[in-house]
Amino acid sequence: MERLYDAVILGAGVAGSAMAHALAGRGWRTLVVERGGTPRHKVCGEFLSPESRSSLNALGLDEIVGRLPACPIEAVRIVAASGRQLRFGLTEPALGVSRPELDGALLRSARERGAELLDETTALSVAPEGGRLRIEARGRRDAGERTLYARAVIGAWGRRAPAGLAGQAGARPRQAGGERVGWKVHLEGVRTEPEVELYFFAGGYVGIAPVGEQTANVAALVDAAFLREAGADPREWLRLAAARSPAFGRRIAGSRAVAGTGKAVAPVRIGRGPRAWEGRVALIGDAAMVVPPLCGDGMAMALRSAELCAPLADEYLRGRSSLEQWGRAYEEALRKPFADPARWGRLLQTALGRPALASLLVGLGGAAPELARRAFRATRLPPPPSPR
Ligand SMILES: Cc1cc2nc3c(=O)[nH]c(=O)nc-3n(C[C@H](O)[C@H](O)[C@H](O)COP(=O)(O)OP(=O)(O)OC[C@H]3O[C@@H](n4cnc5c(N)ncnc54)[C@H](O)[C@@H]3O)c2cc1C
Repeated sequence: MERLYDAVILGAGVAGSAMAHALAGRGWRTLVVERGGTPRHKVCGEFLSPESRSSLNALGLDEIVGRLPACPIEAVRIVAASGRQLRFGLTEPALGVSRPELDGALLRSARERGAELLDETTALSVAPEGGRLRIEARGRRDAGERTLYARAVIGAWGRRAPAGLAGQAGARPRQAGGERVGWKVHLEGVRTEPEVELYFFAGGYVGIAPVGEQTANVAALVDAAFLREAGADPREWLRLAAARSPAFGRRIAGSRAVAGTGKAVAPVRIGRGPRAWEGRVALIGDAAMVVPPLCGDGMAMALRSAELCAPLADEYLRGRSSLEQWGRAYEEALRKPFADPARWGRLLQTALGRPALASLLVGLGGAAPELARRAFRATRLPPPPSPR
């Protein structure tokens, strides 16, 4: 017998699991469809910014995240290719937290509230059918096709849309200045500091954040030639990054890559957006907008979009608003806080990727720290409006 869900959420990352937690908690029959296994390592700096705190509170996820093994991060250090450095404190601490820990905890709490999970299953397309939405999906284990039905579908699929929607949301413009790729790996035996360190060089940067005692996460955004040269071995990624930034090389000397934690993705395209809808599918997280990774605010934005979308989806499911009303309200709510920080983030990421300019900016920031703080603040998600 076919099963009609109130909400089907496509993707079990930060955005999808937070949304499932919110909707299942409101009593809706909720299904999460996830292409991969859960939880798993993902390409991410694992810097959970202070801007995520208000959304975690609003979504009732603060205690769950508070119990995770995590490291406080109190400052940002920027190191230009010339070796020039700039360090400034965060007004509120961030957290260094491993993605499998975070994603796993969010998904578990959604399931404890009654959300169902269909993992190892890829959503292929979504189409309206007789007042509801039909989702076609394919399981990896049995390679079987599945048809699911829902009253509402939420796209939380990250940077790349399912094939059946790829002509629309998936068709992101090519990146000006060449394609970027991302990678990450955990390091053991490295000195950890309560700060996130960003080492810039021609064509990209690599960041280090503490995620455990003597364990750090290293993540990078680099030009496509980097992975062509380094291949698939995370130890080669580290070696090549160290060659491009000697300061980074000295920083990680004597450490070891943790087996099974290396991940790479290509391409990483930064969107303009935000884009709140794809047809009748509401978009959250990276599906709505890929912010420049340099902002370290992608997870905060994923949580904020779930926070904004969940009450509107709830009103729709209760029959108190139409899809059009949900559509307009969500689009408006998303546009305001997302557009400006992403614009500043793009600008800074591009400028710091040019060695001479990076050295100049770092020097300027050192001489005028308030200017550096203001530039950093411009990339941050603004606080949510206080409830009326
Ligand atoms: C190099 C780099 C460094 C970064 N560093 C940081 C940082 O330090 N701090 C920060 O906050 N953000 C950072 N980000 C951004 C952050 O990783 C993302 O913004 C965040 O993961 C978005 O969460 P999400 O839930 O939208 O997407 P994801 O976490 O990508 O989750 C999407 C999920 O959907 C699943 N999926 C995809 N397609 C389908 C399908 N067709 N059917 C079913 N499931 C599907 C995927 O398997 C995945 O599990 C970084 C990004 C990069 C590239």
